[in-house]
Amino acid sequence: MSNPYSWLTKSLETIHKANWHRSVQAIEGSAGAVVSMAGSRVVNFASNDYLGLASHPKLIERAIAATKTYGTGATGSRLLSGHRPLHRELEQAIAQLKGTEDAMVFSSGYLANIGTVAALVGDRDLILSDEYNHASLRNGATLSGAAVLIYRHSSLESLTELLTEHRAAYRRCLILTDGVFGMDGDICPLPEILDLGDRFEAMVMIDEAHSAGVLGKTGAGCAEHFSNQQSDRYPNCQHRSLVQMGTLSKAFASLGGYVAGSTELVDFLRNRAPSWIYTTGLSPADTAAALGALDLLQQAPHRLSQLHQNAHYLIQQLDQLLSELPNQSHELKRLSTDSAIVCLQVKDAATVLNIGQQLKAKGIFTSAVRPPTVPISRLRLSVMATHTQAHIDRLMTALKETLSSDLGR
Ligand code: PMP
Repeated sequence: MSNPYSWLTKSLETIHKANWHRSVQAIEGSAGAVVSMAGSRVVNFASNDYLGLASHPKLIERAIAATKTYGTGATGSRLLSGHRPLHRELEQAIAQLKGTEDAMVFSSGYLANIGTVAALVGDRDLILSDEYNHASLRNGATLSGAAVLIYRHSSLESLTELLTEHRAAYRRCLILTDGVFGMDGDICPLPEILDLGDRFEAMVMIDEAHSAGVLGKTGAGCAEHFSNQQSDRYPNCQHRSLVQMGTLSKAFASLGGYVAGSTELVDFLRNRAPSWIYTTGLSPADTAAALGALDLLQQAPHRLSQLHQNAHYLIQQLDQLLSELPNQSHELKRLSTDSAIVCLQVKDAATVLNIGQQLKAKGIFTSAVRPPTVPISRLRLSVMATHTQAHIDRLMTALKETLSSDLGR
């Protein structure tokens, strides 16, 4: 009899051959701008802890206090025995930050996306999804049973064409977009997408995983970012109807996801989103840590401005370095960014892996992102509020040495 699992060996061989094989790398000890890996201290440009709060003593204290008060687990789904006053406090704090009527907290951002998309549309409906959207939005779209059409990345022309041709054939329509694209760093054209939503009677859902706590004057995210722009083209996005999803696992240094919007939207999702109804509530420690992060964002706004300054400095230094590099054989291109994510596109998976390894040997931890996650390989650098100028300068020195070498080819 043949082994029904033998295909796994072949599949893994193919993954290795393409340089697409992935495995975990351990960080020993505390999160931060500098972390320990394999016994060495490395400067961390691979974290989503944008505000540098994941090891903040106040968040740790609050997580411990909540564990002492409520125990380690929520012990049930929110509608049965898993709801705690802390959950509501967190939901109200999120709604306040986002300027929405209400918000609800899911046990992860992934669950927030799949549950919300699948609740909002069904098999008589249409989803229009940006080609670079996060896997959780794409999987939510598949799960919903709606017809799914993919529009070209942030292309209003492509989105308009698809809406014009297909909208009328369906009952409801939902436009899905990342706010900041996590593997690119650019921001979606939210005001124009909202205009198209109005014109074609389509709901708009934005994933603020990489923009909440990062963009806008108070860290409220994309809608606030565009509302602050002094231009007639951008009417106040914050007061327009919109489904705002986000995660608590990045700038808010915890775990969990949320959806913020109208009272009706939240009430509906509490009754119809299976990934909220049928899963255990967020743990007390995670809930309290996220609340701590929201409080700190409000009390210490300098963190947010420091993050913006650091991102600006890194981009400036990287562009300077690229303009001075003698050897351009690696087809390097800095991708356009509006956020704390800065990507350097590289010609292939082997090259980006090699760059990542050389940087690590020089004490710099980055992410080498390859297909199938992205169409073209890239080095992803994420900026934290707690990086110092010296950390960024060290990255540049290491990058200069690495990119000036022939990278073993
Ligand atoms: N959306 C985006 C854009 C993300 O980058 C992520 C996490 N990588 C998620 C959703 C999922 O969030 P979580 O990690 O909280 O499940």
